[in-house]
Amino acid sequence: MKRAFKYRIYPTKEQEESLKKQIEEARILYNLLLEASIKAYKEEKKSILGYDLNELALKIRKEKSLTHVSAQSAQDVAVRISKAFKQFFRKVKEGKHGKAVGYPRFKSFNRYDSITFPQYNNGFRLLDDDLLSVYDAGILKIKYLKDIAGKIKALTIKKEPTGNWYAIIIADGQFKNENHVCKSDKVVGMDVGLASFIATSYGELIENPKILKNSEKILKIRHRQLYKKKKGSKNRNKARIRLAKAYNKVKKQRETFLHGLTNKMIKNYKIIVIEKLNIKGMTKNHYLAKSILDASWNELARQLNYKAEEAGSVILQVDPRNTSKACSNCGWINNDLTLADRTFKCQECGIELNRDVNAARNILRLGLGTLGRRGTESNACGDEATTMGKPIASIVTEAGKSGSDLYFRNY
Ligand SMILES: [Zn+2]
Repeated sequence: MKRAFKYRIYPTKEQEESLKKQIEEARILYNLLLEASIKAYKEEKKSILGYDLNELALKIRKEKSLTHVSAQSAQDVAVRISKAFKQFFRKVKEGKHGKAVGYPRFKSFNRYDSITFPQYNNGFRLLDDDLLSVYDAGILKIKYLKDIAGKIKALTIKKEPTGNWYAIIIADGQFKNENHVCKSDKVVGMDVGLASFIATSYGELIENPKILKNSEKILKIRHRQLYKKKKGSKNRNKARIRLAKAYNKVKKQRETFLHGLTNKMIKNYKIIVIEKLNIKGMTKNHYLAKSILDASWNELARQLNYKAEEAGSVILQVDPRNTSKACSNCGWINNDLTLADRTFKCQECGIELNRDVNAARNILRLGLGTLGRRGTESNACGDEATTMGKPIASIVTEAGKSGSDLYFRNY
C-alpha cells in the first residue's frame, strides 16, 4: 500500500529560485498540454492518452525550450492532465442536470504550486537524515522524522500559499504500527453527517467538535477580508496568505481531532462500514460548512484505511444511496424524509430512532451484505478471506447473532 509522508523543507534563496522556475515551467507545460488535449477532443472527439500524452509533453518541453523542468516532472504533468480529463469524462457521463460540463481549467500562477518526481533516484534522493537532493536545486535541508517505512517511490515538492515549502514523499510497503491494534471482533456501521459528525449503528453520536465550528467562523472572516482588498494589491496578497494560514490551522486541528477518533475506532472494531464518498454531491455544494465536512470525511476515510491495514482490520465502503430514507428495521422507504427530520419514524413497522443511527444501521447491513457474498465466494474456491487469522465469514456470523434485529435484504 502506498502512503504519503510530508516534511517541511528549507530551501536557500537560490534553491527557491530553481524550484520556482521548475514549477512555473511545469505550469506552462500543463496549460499547453491541456490546450492540445481540449483541441483534440473538440475537433476529433478523441482524447490523447497514456504514451501519446507523455510523448507530447516531452515534445512541447523541447519545442518551447522549457529547460528548467525535468523530463520526469514533465511526464508527471501528463499524468495530471490525464487525471483531470478522467474526472471530466466522469462528469460528462454522470451528467449535471442538463448543464454543460466545463473542461478542466487552465492554471493561473497561484493555482499551480508543485512538481512531482515519479521515480526514486531519478531527480531526487534522500541523502541523510536531514538532506534531500533534488534535481537542479541541489541539496536541501529537510525536517525528516525518520518515519518512512517501505520503499520510497516518488517526491512532490510543494510551495504552500503561506510561503513554506514541503516535500511529500510517497512510499510503498506494509506499514505496521503498534499504536494501531484491533482488540475486538465487533462490527460497526457509521454515518457521517452535519447534525452529529458521526452516528454509529450502536446508537452512539459523536458531535462535531467546537473547534471546527469556530474555524468555520474564522475562515468566513478571512474570506471576506480577502475579497474587500483590491485585486493585485500588496494588501490582497497579505490577506491571501492569512487565509491560507487559517486553512492550515483548521486542517491541523481537524487532523488531530480525527486521529483521536480513528485510533479509538480501529481499537474497538474489527470491521467498520462507511459510505463511499459522494463526489457528485461534493462538487455541487459550495457551502463552507459542507466543504469542511467533506474535507473531514476524506481525512477520516484516509486515516481509517491506512490504520486498518496496520491493525489488520477491515474497512468496507458502501454506496450511500437510500441509507437515510430506508427503515433499517423493515426496509420501508420514506421518500418524504427531509434534512429537518431528526427522527426516523417508520410507517410500516412503527420503529422510531435517530435518523443518523438509522442510516448507520443501513450502512452496516449493506456492508455485511457484501462481506457475506465475498465470504461464500472465497469459501467456494477454497481460499477463505481472513483478518488477523480469523475467517471473515465467522466474524460476520457472530455479528449476525449479536445483531439479530438487523434487516438483511438487498435493495
Ligand atoms: Zn420499518
